[in-house]
Amino acid sequence: MSIRKKIQSSIDNLIMKNGPHRYEINEHRIKCNQCQNEFFDKGEAQLNTAGMSFIGLDWANKTATTLACRNCGFIMWFVKTLTKVPNR
Ligand SMILES: [Zn+2]
Repeated sequence: MSIRKKIQSSIDNLIMKNGPHRYEINEHRIKCNQCQNEFFDKGEAQLNTAGMSFIGLDWANKTATTLACRNCGFIMWFVKTLTKVPNR
């Protein structure tokens, strides 16, 4: 493999790992509710309840997946597992 191809491969891997991605849920492509963009930055958010926090059981609360639209910044929340769509 040439140096150029090695560098391109490394860049592709970095983008695949860290860059914005498209996602699906139940085989439906996710689009931004505001602008219809398909590329999102994925994150996680705790769904803590006041009762569980009060008795020290924060660990028992669920986690939600957040998708922040790369175009307009709108954030959508999901409690089901999302599937990442390859960028190519
Ligand atoms: Zn958007």
